[in-house]
Amino acid sequence: MRLRNITGSREVIAESLYVVQEAVQPQCPGTWKEIFGNQNPIHIEIGMGKGKFIHTMAKEHPEINYVGIEKYSSVLLRAIQKMEQEELPNLKFLRMDAEDITKVFGPGEVDKIYLNFSDPWPKDRHAKRRLPSREFLARYDVILKKNSRLEFKTDNRELFDFAVEELEPAGWKAEMITYDLHSDSVLMETNVMTEYEEKFSAMGNPICKYVIYR
Ligand code: SAM
Repeated sequence: MRLRNITGSREVIAESLYVVQEAVQPQCPGTWKEIFGNQNPIHIEIGMGKGKFIHTMAKEHPEINYVGIEKYSSVLLRAIQKMEQEELPNLKFLRMDAEDITKVFGPGEVDKIYLNFSDPWPKDRHAKRRLPSREFLARYDVILKKNSRLEFKTDNRELFDFAVEELEPAGWKAEMITYDLHSDSVLMETNVMTEYEEKFSAMGNPICKYVIYR
């Protein structure tokens, strides 16, 4: 998702109290409980887009702290605008490339990771950029608490098959895999739709999901 450059989005982000600013990010590892001012678990969404999913999750689960990560200012701006309409104390944003995720969270500091409708990077030479690739799984291995879970949803079957194949070489195991999430009434009871999920499921695309651990 790349919105056209929105004039002033960088300035809005630089002044937003909802965003943990770039200058502060190097001091973040090990301090997330202090940033939120409580001992609640930390759940993150990497590539949150405009933040529909994570904002809904934060609203439904005030006992959990959420961090939404997005690479592009113009997209993050939309999530900030949503927060301005409905402020939530348990949600913060990071504008950054997730490649640097281990510089922002300490070892085992994260209790759950969500990847939703991650960019497919279809060319083989770009496989390392895919958020469920073994290279990214190695980064998640550092920041995710032992026995905690990572959840991934997508309608892109090729990306999903790739993600499943990456698990074993990366040392992860699947707790649950479905190739048609929306036809599973039990899983759907707790499912929170992302913006892309709404769009693609409305087009009739089956939604794949896994829950993994190591
Ligand atoms: N998760 C949202 C959803 O399901 O509606 C948005 C999906 S959109 C296809 C993927 C988002 O991930 C884009 O906004 C993109 O900028 C962001 N993204 C992709 N690679 C990223 C990375 N390495 N670090 C941070 N954000 C990234």
